[in-house]
Amino acid sequence: MAEFSKKNIISLLNAKNEDILSLMILTNSKRDDLRITYSKNVFLPISEICRNECGYCTFRKDPSNPEARILMNPPEILNILKDADKLRCKEALFTFGELPDEISDVKIALRKLGYENMVEYLYFICNETLKQTNLLPHSNPGILKKDYLRMLKEVNASMGLMLETSSARLMETIAHKLSPGKNPKLRIETIENAGKLRIPFTTGLLIGIGETIEERAESLLEIKRINDKYGHIQEIIIQNFKPKPGIPMQNYKEPSLVEMINMVSVTKLLFPDIGVQVPPNLNRKNAQIFLMAGADDWGGISPLTKDYVNPEAPWPELDELRMITEEVGYYLDERLPVYPKFISEDFLSHRILDKIKSWGNI
Ligand code: SF4
Repeated sequence: MAEFSKKNIISLLNAKNEDILSLMILTNSKRDDLRITYSKNVFLPISEICRNECGYCTFRKDPSNPEARILMNPPEILNILKDADKLRCKEALFTFGELPDEISDVKIALRKLGYENMVEYLYFICNETLKQTNLLPHSNPGILKKDYLRMLKEVNASMGLMLETSSARLMETIAHKLSPGKNPKLRIETIENAGKLRIPFTTGLLIGIGETIEERAESLLEIKRINDKYGHIQEIIIQNFKPKPGIPMQNYKEPSLVEMINMVSVTKLLFPDIGVQVPPNLNRKNAQIFLMAGADDWGGISPLTKDYVNPEAPWPELDELRMITEEVGYYLDERLPVYPKFISEDFLSHRILDKIKSWGNI
């Protein structure tokens, strides 16, 4: 579409003065309803070990750190899942650092449990989740080969991988110079393979890690290119970089409110049928303005576990989230980890469909 040329997107991302308000009004005129969704989830950080070292990360721990979670064991995971089940959570979010099984400590821990690699173990955990609870797995396993994605599809309602940025230039900067897995080519390949396999998919961009406005436009257009081809993207997270003490990028500036407003609005304009998510725990003060800018999803909110990726930022309680949402004229509604338009045989395995059917939702 002509109005979404790169030049046009860059111009919208640079909106100033009353153009910012016009952009927000335009975005809101495209809304079908006033529904803002969230997924009641439980967050399981299966391993905090990662082969990458991103300049903004507070999740990864060195294996020599006595506090590092090398590998959560099955009883530990299942106990938490069962507590989440009692609280009527519907999403089990499984995440870990990228390719942790390339690190010997994780490899040894996996072998002790009888698994060759992390994907085999993740499959087992997702399978047990489906067998023993009412939760639906949503895994974020990093870049993966197509065969592994195919295997995990059977036991996952949806999967996710942040594109973060399509800029290869950042591989030379503090953000990604120690992170081979942040090569955008590898991430795009994983997201495209998920599309070929018809896996409902969450992706997103990290804003403020050194990318230019032009690169933000290119990243959005790259997600659009992939989704136009495969139609499997269910939500796009627009996450703002936050400087935190102790990280290599601790003295870098976070993106301004205006940069984020423009980014959220342009994302919604480009993707009117896809959920646009802004994490509320990273944006407590500005959460309402992002709803008015076009965000329509708060992502996973857990009554049980913290956000291990941003441990300093607790999730708001549901009552607070409802108040934040309703105060600006929207309403809060729970969703599943798979969006309604993907609940079909085309996208989901029989295992997942049967689980959803067992609640009487379809
Ligand atoms: S942000 Fe993700 S990939 Fe990067 S170091 Fe942290 S855990 Fe690893």
